[in-house]
Amino acid sequence: MVYLDYAATSPVFPDVLDVMDAVSRDFYANPSSIYSIGYSAKKLLHECRKTIATSMHSESDEIVFTSGGTEGNNLALFGVLRASRQKKHFIVGSTEHHSVLAAAQALTREGFSLSILPCSSDGRYSAEALARMIRPDTALVCLQIANNETGVLQPIDEISAITREKRIPLHCDAVAAYGHIPLDVRALKIDLLTASAHKMGGPKGVGFLYVRNEISLSPLFFGGSQERGLRPGTENLPAIAGFQKAVELSAVPASSLVRDRLEQLLTHHHPGAIVNGAGASRLPHILNITIPDVPAEQLLPLLSAKGIYASARAACASGERIPSHVLTAMGLSATESAETLRFSTGFGNKLSDADETSNAIDFAILNRFCT
Ligand code: PMP
Repeated sequence: MVYLDYAATSPVFPDVLDVMDAVSRDFYANPSSIYSIGYSAKKLLHECRKTIATSMHSESDEIVFTSGGTEGNNLALFGVLRASRQKKHFIVGSTEHHSVLAAAQALTREGFSLSILPCSSDGRYSAEALARMIRPDTALVCLQIANNETGVLQPIDEISAITREKRIPLHCDAVAAYGHIPLDVRALKIDLLTASAHKMGGPKGVGFLYVRNEISLSPLFFGGSQERGLRPGTENLPAIAGFQKAVELSAVPASSLVRDRLEQLLTHHHPGAIVNGAGASRLPHILNITIPDVPAEQLLPLLSAKGIYASARAACASGERIPSHVLTAMGLSATESAETLRFSTGFGNKLSDADETSNAIDFAILNRFCT
């Protein structure tokens, strides 16, 4: 089996499973309970928070554990805008994940005014274009660290130089990037950041939102005082401890060897192939490639039949018939979008996976598309 869809979700590190099992058995007490085993659970929660905060140079009390990236992004957008008194305008990027774009659309129905920042043909946002879009009533800028379909990295330092100077909170979706490249929220001047464990060897259904101490945020849910009241509900300690373990185990930066080899093989064998975002810096584990005249919808089942698993786009949009909004924003036609594959690598891959995949694609094309 060759699994090349880590950007959709990663297999779980075996050590993470062991930790989750042990914590479920031995730390079942509620961290809010005021007896010894409750205190032990609280202490473990504190340790996990510390590891995760340190991983991107924040403070422990700036971490809000969530159920994953979708919740983190919704909490950031709704949380900042609903807490904003006078300012009603916000900016999000055109290639953001659906959990940002759909939340942004929902906010327009609450009376907020939305501007969408376009990207260049290599998928990058321009800090100058952002500066021109900012208004006196801009309350939030929300731009991803890296794109989950192409791996393209955004110029966050240039963007945050503007947002910090204008005192506009900057939220970054780091779900694709966290655990794969080093992140320093202080150096990058990021005010809010979303991450999710299941993209980096951790369990599904857990993530965090980093919220810089000075930022005001309204909660989405109401209840107890967990997570400083910003995310009430009994903490999912086994998942959080699994997340901590995944953070400890992740190689940051991740290796690009398998991705690079696959890219080299595919571009060599298919001279017309185009690597989307090739002109930009990219995450080390994602390859987004258009192979002319090879529809992904036909190729992927053939690869799957050989035990090779890749995707055409973001997993949560894979049922959609419409072209990828990311590739459309980068200027690709609907046909080019339909001829695009996303490969994403991770800790379980070996170099020969690239060769096996390239050979399988050659075989499929020879037998299916060229006869
Ligand atoms: N943002 C990005 C960039 C993602 O790739 C994803 C997952 N596809 C999410 C947010 C949502 O994360 P989750 O699946 O943890 O809700």
